[in-house]
Amino acid sequence: CGIIGYVGPRPSQDILLSGLARLEYRGYDSAGIAVIDGDGNLDMRKRAGKLSVLRDDLAADPMPDGTTGIGHTRWATHGGPTDSNAHPHLADDGKLAVIHNGIIENFAELKAGVVADGYPFRSETDTEVAAALLGRAYREHDGDLVAAFRAVVSQLEGAFTLLAMHQDSPGVVVGARRNSPLVIGLGEGENFLGSDVAAFVEHTRNALAIGQDQIVTITPDAVAVTDFDGNDVEVEPFEVVWDA
Ligand code: GLU
Repeated sequence: CGIIGYVGPRPSQDILLSGLARLEYRGYDSAGIAVIDGDGNLDMRKRAGKLSVLRDDLAADPMPDGTTGIGHTRWATHGGPTDSNAHPHLADDGKLAVIHNGIIENFAELKAGVVADGYPFRSETDTEVAAALLGRAYREHDGDLVAAFRAVVSQLEGAFTLLAMHQDSPGVVVGARRNSPLVIGLGEGENFLGSDVAAFVEHTRNALAIGQDQIVTITPDAVAVTDFDGNDVEVEPFEVVWDA
């Protein structure tokens, strides 16, 4: 029910966890984060329960930190609130991580196609089919994550805020939205994505609203927004007004 993405110079685990804490008011049953670490590997941890369960798990068994990361709080719609149904969901042999808020209405039909290809599903979520499709599209588009998004998101019906990153594309987080919110937070040499501004308000008040059916790419120094066909679109800047 909450989403955050980060690219920049700072270790991202604390940024992700504190962003998720600020999104707790929306309600959730599970939480998870993924980061691309300094060795270029994707590391992921997710747990059913409160954010404190995830925090305690990371404290007891730390995972490498990294400067590209995504974080999620889940409100289960497809599949119960378990560790394996929590997000992120991994694809492409654990190199791609995907998080999602919303419901992919046509997931069963899409899943049948991916299962026929022999994809090993590890969860009961609607989300994992998007991960599977993005992993396949990433390879078909020679490691171009944005092209993979363009190939996949227009097939997805329903509501989604979808974020992904791939360990072979460090320093990049790509997102898309349809019938579900997504905003960009502009920092200095770092950028954020959030399901709402609470995700990044402690770091920046400069935000950009993403329109319906748009894809956004963030790197530490740039943001780019297109429609689902890849045409550039203008985005509207706004200043976050927030009484802390
Ligand atoms: N439909 C997805 C799931 O059940 C995402 C739910 C959410 O918005 O958190 O895993």
